[in-house]
Amino acid sequence: MGLFLYIDIDAFFASVEQSLNRRLQGRPVMVGGLKHERGVVACPSYEARARGVRTGTTLHEAAQLIPDGVFLKGDYHQYQHYSDRFYDILSSVTPDIDRVSQDEACLDIAGAVRRFGSPRTLALELQSSIYERLALSTSIGVGPSRVVAKIASECRKPMGLTIVDNDSLRDFMAAIPIKRLPGVGSVTGRILREMGIETAGQLAQVPETYLKRIFGINGLKIAAYSRGEDGIPFRDYRAIRTVSRETGFAEDITDKKILLSHFYYLLERASAKLRRLNRKAATVRIKFRYADFETIEGTSPLSPPSHDETAIFPRVEMMFERLFCRRLGIRLVGVTLANLKGYADNETLIKDRSERGRNLLRGLDAARRKSGFFSLMTGRTLALAERYQRGDTGYVLRTPGLSQ
Ligand SMILES: [Mg+2]
Repeated sequence: MGLFLYIDIDAFFASVEQSLNRRLQGRPVMVGGLKHERGVVACPSYEARARGVRTGTTLHEAAQLIPDGVFLKGDYHQYQHYSDRFYDILSSVTPDIDRVSQDEACLDIAGAVRRFGSPRTLALELQSSIYERLALSTSIGVGPSRVVAKIASECRKPMGLTIVDNDSLRDFMAAIPIKRLPGVGSVTGRILREMGIETAGQLAQVPETYLKRIFGINGLKIAAYSRGEDGIPFRDYRAIRTVSRETGFAEDITDKKILLSHFYYLLERASAKLRRLNRKAATVRIKFRYADFETIEGTSPLSPPSHDETAIFPRVEMMFERLFCRRLGIRLVGVTLANLKGYADNETLIKDRSERGRNLLRGLDAARRKSGFFSLMTGRTLALAERYQRGDTGYVLRTPGLSQ
């Protein structure tokens, strides 16, 4: 078995707000919308949780529970910026990182642990350097498999650390309620409970063949998880399958050049994300929505797969030229990079791009990480400078889409 560390930023959005504005520290902060707006709380701080507000509590209810609470719409560019810095710190431990979401990751620390002495020292150093540099608290789980590390990370929050080794694995899993296992949703959970199975320990006693007959492949997965094993590659669980960026406009746009600049900008952001993920896309999709809400989508294969906006953009441009045929304004555009392929970096010596080109991209990413997005501007997106304000991490678009 291996050694894995699962790390999760506590109350991510709310904690970023508290990190940016010290006056919010210790106060019940709720990100998701303003008081009495329609909608729900996307992320309550621990102070707000202590007073009964959960993720998904309506803003109206939250305002009644905590009349003196701080209600914020949220700044998704800032969250992405903090997420990038979080991942920079993680990469200093090991390059072997599974990105689960903006604020959750699983690290293979089998090699790195030697440098630190013990998993505990490694975890504590990681926790304190994230706290010192970003003022964010994290909860960590360490275990012999990814699934155990993940479950352990949920045991103590905030600023928790739970370490499960081979000796304590059996006892640890025995008490875990089945609903905490990945793959056990409400339907599977209900069926298992009807069978009298409440814990991972009890589930581990059920013959695999029996679970397979009832639940198919998922039965084999949860059987492995119940023993604390990853079984079928854990990567499949909530793995990032696409990277999308989209934005709506305050006013409909008809100018083709301006529309293409938006596509380029979104593609540039999505490609940079792919490069950070060490992935290439074999498919690019575009979509746009006319003023009357008709939505048009186009798909194009990328061969060879790419994470380079300059190589991908001609495809986007071609599709858009072909599909944009009504004489009507456009209210929203979006780009998706899909069909993602992993690759080893030295393998990319294959002909798809010269060494020099790749170094340029790497340099661009590094410079922007250090000095901000606007330290290097590409010609295509300069057209946007007149329309948008510059934020710390890029243009402040009206509705930034940040889906994975
Ligand atoms: Mg979190």
